[in-house]
Amino acid sequence: MDAPIQLLDLAAQRARLGGRIEAAIARVVEHGVFIMGPEVAALEEELAEYCGAKHVVTCANGTDALVLVMMAENIGPGDAVFVPSFTFVATAEAVALRGATPVFVDVDPENFNICPKSLERAIAEAEDYGLRPRAVIAVDLFGLPADYASLRQLCSARHLLLVADAAQSFGGTYQSVRVGALADYTTTSFFPSKPLGCYGDGGAVMVDDAVKAELLSSLRFHGRGSEKYDNVRVGVNSRLDTIQAAVLREKLLILDEEIARRDEIAQAYSRGLPSWLSTPRVASHSRSAWAQYTITLPEGADRGQFSADLTSQGVPTAVYYPKPLHTQDGYRHFPVTSRGCASSESLATRVISLPMQPYLSLDQVQHVIDNVGADIETLIGRR
Ligand SMILES: *Cc1c(COP(=O)(O)O)cnc(C)c1O
Repeated sequence: MDAPIQLLDLAAQRARLGGRIEAAIARVVEHGVFIMGPEVAALEEELAEYCGAKHVVTCANGTDALVLVMMAENIGPGDAVFVPSFTFVATAEAVALRGATPVFVDVDPENFNICPKSLERAIAEAEDYGLRPRAVIAVDLFGLPADYASLRQLCSARHLLLVADAAQSFGGTYQSVRVGALADYTTTSFFPSKPLGCYGDGGAVMVDDAVKAELLSSLRFHGRGSEKYDNVRVGVNSRLDTIQAAVLREKLLILDEEIARRDEIAQAYSRGLPSWLSTPRVASHSRSAWAQYTITLPEGADRGQFSADLTSQGVPTAVYYPKPLHTQDGYRHFPVTSRGCASSESLATRVISLPMQPYLSLDQVQHVIDNVGADIETLIGRR
C-alpha cells in the first residue's frame, strides 16, 4: 500500500482541480467584493439548478441555516420541534436557541435516521407536555436521505413543517428526487469535511416558496428591507463569504463524480467486509452522498481496542456520535419520547466510521477491508 490513508484528503481534490480554486479565489481578491459579491448569487442559482429547489439562500454555516428556518417560521417558546437524538448537536441547538423545545425521537438502527414510529408517538405526546407541535427536522445521517415518504405523510396529517437537515447528504437522492427538493425547507453545511465543503464555514437553505426565500434573504442580512439601511425586521449577520462561494462553484462541478466514486468505495467495502458485520444499507430508490461509511460493531465488541488496532495498521477511524443528544448535559432537560431512545443509545456505543473520501485508491480500500475483517474476528473471538 502506497500513501497513508486519510479521513479527508483536500490536497488530492485540490490537485485534481488543477489550479481552478486558486484562480477563482484570485478573481475575488481582484474584484474585491468580499461580501455578497457576484459569485454568491451565481452559486445560489447553480445550487438550485443542481438539486431542483426553486430557491437557494446561502448563509454563514449549516447551524445558522437551521436557525434561519426557525426564524422564518416564527418558531419559539411553547413550540415543539421533533429531532432525532442520534445526530450532530446543531440539529437540536438551532431549536433550543430560539427558545423552542426540541423533543427527542429515536432512530432506526438499520439506517441511523429518524424512526417514523417513534416520531408518531412523540408528536402524540407533545401536547401532554403543554407544547404546540410545529416542525420535524429529519437528518440525513452519514449522507443517506431519511424516509421522506413516511415523514411527509406524518407531517401533512398533523400540519407540521418538514425540515431536512441535509448537512451530510447534499448530492444524495431519494426516489429520483435530489436532496434539496424533498422537504419544505432543506438546510445544508459547507463545512470542509462535508461532501460539498468550502475552505471555511458556509451553509445554505433550499426552499420552493418564493416569499419564504425572500424572508430568509432578509433575515440573514440584519432583517434588511429593499434599501441598504432599511431594517424591516430583526435579523442576523449570516452571509456566505464571496471567496467561499467562489470555491464552492468549482467544487460543485465535480460533486457528482466525487459521489459516484464514494459509492464505488462503499460498494467495495460492503462486498469485502464480513457479511455478518453490520454495514450500511441503502434502499434501491436512494443514493447516499456517503459523508461517512459507518459500520455497527457486534454487541460487546471493544470499540476502543478495535480503533487502536486499526490505527496501528494505518487505518484512521472516527466515532460519530459517541453520545446521543438526549443524554448530553446541555440537552437532558428536554423531553424524550416516552418509549425512550434505545437505538440511539445502543448505536452510540457501537458505531465506527471507516475512511470514506473520493481519493482513496482501491488498494487502500482493500487494506482497510483486510484489517477490519481480521481484527474484528479476533476481537469477538470468531476465529
Ligand atoms: C455539520 C452539521 C451541521 C452544522 O453545520 P455547520 O456548518 O458546522 O454549522 C448540522 N447538522 C448536521 C447533521 C451536521 O452534520
